[in-house]
Amino acid sequence: MQMMLSHSQNSIPKWCNATLIARELVAADIVLLRFEIVGASYVRHIPGQYYDLRIVLPGGVVSERSYSIANVPNEKGIIEFGIQLIEDGEVSPFLWNLTVGDVIDMRGPSGNFVWNPLEPKFACKHLILIGGGSGMVPLMSMLRQYVEMKKIEPQTPGLCQRVYVVVSAKSIATIPYHEELERIASKFPEVNLTITVTGDVLEEWKRYTKRIDEEVLREVLGDTSPANARIYICGRNRFIDTITSSLVSVGYSLGDIRTERFG
Ligand SMILES: Cc1cc2nc3c(=O)[nH]c(=O)nc-3n(C[C@H](O)[C@H](O)[C@H](O)COP(=O)(O)OP(=O)(O)OC[C@H]3O[C@@H](n4cnc5c(N)ncnc54)[C@H](O)[C@@H]3O)c2cc1C
Repeated sequence: MQMMLSHSQNSIPKWCNATLIARELVAADIVLLRFEIVGASYVRHIPGQYYDLRIVLPGGVVSERSYSIANVPNEKGIIEFGIQLIEDGEVSPFLWNLTVGDVIDMRGPSGNFVWNPLEPKFACKHLILIGGGSGMVPLMSMLRQYVEMKKIEPQTPGLCQRVYVVVSAKSIATIPYHEELERIASKFPEVNLTITVTGDVLEEWKRYTKRIDEEVLREVLGDTSPANARIYICGRNRFIDTITSSLVSVGYSLGDIRTERFG
């Protein structure tokens, strides 16, 4: 099978209809929604990009929010999201209540928070993915892309030698994509997985139990060289700002850090 990723898209994406074809939990507070886009509206995405989803709320109010794409680009017409439930939110509870067969409007793909291993400018020795909660969604697309390419085209020149995945969650139950992450890390020794749980933890949790800070990053990334790394951070503003300043203290330069802010 030949891997294909679209290169940067310059035109503004058009709204299209998408049908929900699957729904399942990937954490206690994150639901996976898989949609199928029918017809010519589908445009292949680059890992890290997002779609705008538009819904009509009871009373006729139209509301839009952005959601990152979780799947890899070679599933033609299929777009997968990971939506965190914000209890008092306007849009995420509506999306949580969708059932298979429902149709909504969406527009995409958009965004420059991307990792495209087929383009030489993205080549790196170490790929570092740091996500807080649902911030793992676009990073999953990148990690899944890495895994696909390792299986299908392992000789791709831009494919990194090591991948560091650092995840922060409030509880064990809300670790996003927990099973899949563990599975990938056990199958691919070059994938280094670190999970930190910041809230109350059960006895059996023997890993980090604090927020990601300079000390954690020094321990985890100790053997990477800032000169050879590409870093992607995704989550809420405070998470991104804290991690960015910790990385700078460790020696990474701002120019090598890409961020996607969820608000
Ligand atoms: C480029 C981009 C990609 C995004 N990708 C994703 C994604 O993959 N998955 C995902 O779940 N979200 C993602 N978001 C966030 C998403 O767009 C919404 O902001 C989020 O779902 C909340 O919308 P809402 O209408 O439910 O809540 P709102 O009605 O907008 O907000 C209700 C309350 O919740 C607070 N709030 C808003 N967002 C969060 C949050 N993330 N965590 C905690 N409190 C919050 C607000 O401050 C407010 O007090 C992304 C945002 C951007 C900009």
